[in-house]
Amino acid sequence: MPEKITQNADGSLNVPNEPIIPFIEGDGTGVDIWPAAKLVMDAAAAKQGKTIGWMEVLAGQKAFDNTGSWLPDETVGAFREYLIGIKGPLTTPIGGGIRSLNVALRQILDLYVCLRPVRWFTGVPSPVKHPEKVDMVIFRENTEDIYAGLEVEEGTPEAKRLIEMLHDEMGWTIRPDSGIGIKPISETGSKRLIRAAIEHAVRKGRKSVTIVHKGNIQKFTEGAFMNWGYELTREEFADVAVGWDDCGGDPGDKVLVKDAIADITLQQVLTRPDEFDVIATTNLNGDYLSDALAAQVGGIGIAPGGNINYVTGHGIFEATHGTAPKYAGQDKVNPGSVLLSGVMMFEHLGWQDAADDIVRALEATIGDKVVTYDFARQMEGATEVKCSEFAQAIVDRL
Ligand code: NAP
Repeated sequence: MPEKITQNADGSLNVPNEPIIPFIEGDGTGVDIWPAAKLVMDAAAAKQGKTIGWMEVLAGQKAFDNTGSWLPDETVGAFREYLIGIKGPLTTPIGGGIRSLNVALRQILDLYVCLRPVRWFTGVPSPVKHPEKVDMVIFRENTEDIYAGLEVEEGTPEAKRLIEMLHDEMGWTIRPDSGIGIKPISETGSKRLIRAAIEHAVRKGRKSVTIVHKGNIQKFTEGAFMNWGYELTREEFADVAVGWDDCGGDPGDKVLVKDAIADITLQQVLTRPDEFDVIATTNLNGDYLSDALAAQVGGIGIAPGGNINYVTGHGIFEATHGTAPKYAGQDKVNPGSVLLSGVMMFEHLGWQDAADDIVRALEATIGDKVVTYDFARQMEGATEVKCSEFAQAIVDRL
């Protein structure tokens, strides 16, 4: 009998052998990658004596066509009730209403961590010489920063009023033909994000947490983010972690908490990737960094993500690429991103063996040069297969 995942008093998840998991198939290539990923996830779970009670919920174009709403209340309600879910890519509605369905889901459920592990899988074509040195986990703040949506358009009465107010009350001079955006960064938002990153580093035996920020310029937002990170390390993690200045760069057997400016970070993740381990960063920096890093290890077709609230227990795992409409329904694209999001979900549920099996089988498949078009065009002697055939090849190697 499928059962609900629940949360224990200590915040951990209570996962039955047959958990109910809501899923959104996704628009565009969602019809291709979702069944492929599901095939592999079901087979890996079965091998460990588990069954997933999949429950389809609607969002995006499919929801709009069926219900007239891009994000029906029932969908949000299901993610709220069943705690953990997974989704394919969604079309962003153009004009009116919702800015982005992904952002809406994150905000409604207060999924404050965007978790993006970035590691290389043997055999995956990469533009860098040593992709095997890339093994990082990015914790990107998901609810604040310029993504809070606090913007006024140039030329509107609101923009005019704001510019006048800032001039009269703060003495700030802003060109009258400016649009304005507000960038809030709070102590609460920063500390809960960095707390999740340090806890992850401790739990997984990682060596360091790098706080990536632009505090040299934006002192009271990005700079404060860094300061709160060091403060938190001293206040809550003194027994297991230590800040760079508090140990002179020698943390002993504790997790080292250090910081780096965002621009130099984008260079160093390329030139010295092995110096980065867990990264904690603000929303916009995290957006750039996750995609830049994904490119080093095989690109968009294979980069997974998760949006998590570690306090309420809610989590939605997702393909990080878009709907790639030009390929929709062709059974062509790489199902790797949504499949590896499933691997992250299994790990989050404590199903480590099933997660490891999928990774091993995926590596074996790519090692045999059986790949979808995106990898085939970068590999010599590859056998290009369809999306569904790639999934079957992984299942055959489980
Ligand atoms: P996209 O759908 O991510 O596609 C851009 C390119 O990335 C594709 O043309 C393809 O490259 C490659 N790609 C995407 N998915 C792939 C896969 N599974 N396997 C291999 N390659 C893949 O970006 P877009 O065309 O800018 O956006 C399309 C729609 O998706 C928009 O409505 C956008 O708002 C939405 N979107 C949704 C999400 C989300 O739901 N998380 C994220 C981003 C965008 P090649 O052409 O080189 O083969």
